[in-house]
Amino acid sequence: MSDERYQDENEFLEWQKQRARRVEKNEQAFRGYNERRQQFEKPTLLIGETAPFVCECADEDCWGTLELTPDEFESAHDQEDHFTVLPGHVMPEFETVVDRHEHYWVVEKFTPEEVEQRLVADPDQPER
Ligand SMILES: [Zn+2]
Repeated sequence: MSDERYQDENEFLEWQKQRARRVEKNEQAFRGYNERRQQFEKPTLLIGETAPFVCECADEDCWGTLELTPDEFESAHDQEDHFTVLPGHVMPEFETVVDRHEHYWVVEKFTPEEVEQRLVADPDQPER
């Protein structure tokens, strides 16, 4: 471990928190889009039928789509900080995988405060 890795650790933490907030905002925007879509699609789908949802990963340029049934979508989003992403579309600094399916993963988002705590607690060992 090098103390000189970041010239100003506070600055680095502040920057990471800002990134975390942006990631969160981006993912919430996609989630909102998907939720509206889910409400629109659900009455028209047969049981077990899937609809395309956008990937809710942190990459602003990702427009990947996931094929989910309304039930899969609902159970993946039963918690506020859970998001559905394409397999592998994960930023381990900002989120952790809570559920892996063949065609989609569910991630749990850290709050900006949790991101900071994790960095302070273990700065050289990001998970995975
Ligand atoms: Zn993605």
